[in-house]
Amino acid sequence: MKLLENKVALITGGSRGIGKGIVEVFAAHGAHVAFTYNSSAEAANAMAQELSKDGVKVKAYQSDAAKFDQAETLVAQVLEDFGSVDVLINNAGITKDNLLMRISEEDFDRVIEVNLKSVFNMTKAVQRSMLKQRHGSIINMSSIVGVQGNAGQTNYAASKAGIIGFSKSVALELGSRNIRCNVIAPGFIETEMTQKLDEATVQSWRDGIPLKRGGTPEDIANTCLYLASDLSAYVTGQVLHVDGGMYT
Ligand code: NAP
Repeated sequence: MKLLENKVALITGGSRGIGKGIVEVFAAHGAHVAFTYNSSAEAANAMAQELSKDGVKVKAYQSDAAKFDQAETLVAQVLEDFGSVDVLINNAGITKDNLLMRISEEDFDRVIEVNLKSVFNMTKAVQRSMLKQRHGSIINMSSIVGVQGNAGQTNYAASKAGIIGFSKSVALELGSRNIRCNVIAPGFIETEMTQKLDEATVQSWRDGIPLKRGGTPEDIANTCLYLASDLSAYVTGQVLHVDGGMYT
């Protein structure tokens, strides 16, 4: 059964990792997908071409989610190209890890801008059209680190914790218009972001997870599928932990 037929989804950071997994699962479920990237133009356009089939439209857009003006321009263009935005997934994110002692102001600010300010930019940009159509599902990608903290990630943890407070507030503000807003807090998902780490560290993480494996982009994409579809019609303001049992 296709769960997203005729819905339009806008996904930030869809060119790699978790975002790519979401674009693939959504297209397979019949959604038309607009997704963004920051610098991977070639990969993003190839993906869009490959997934545009069986009546499904998939298109890639270069847009820095951290920039307010670019988010506005992007959403206006997507509305022109697709006619509506039913689902927004704020997935784009970066890390610039360092101990507080060594972290620069620049690296703190950039992580907050790309991971948190972007969620404000994009949500504000889609708000008007979602209010008019009186429905919408907004899904924001936080992290277990935003809930528990992590040494060496003060900037990242602050950005991901901020997403949770922002999302719960949006759920309260827009619920009366049938616009839902939920958060996913992934644990350890194996993507390029985590491939930078050494194998021994990665294996020790896998061993410490109750389900004894790292997550896959598809694990997160399937949770997005639930939150985007009408299966979750009565779910808003929630944080779903998708982490193999790491957070209890
Ligand atoms: P990833 O493999 O590094 O991919 C990041 C994606 O975000 C790419 O498509 C990248 O585009 C895009 N992006 C980066 N900066 C951007 C910007 N300024 N504007 C627009 N797009 C931008 O990351 P991932 O592991 O899939 O993570 C995706 C999300 O899940 C992030 O929010 C991350 O914090 C969160 N998360 C990940 C894990 C994990 O274990 N992997 C765990 C918890 C939470 P380009 O290809 O053009 O650079």
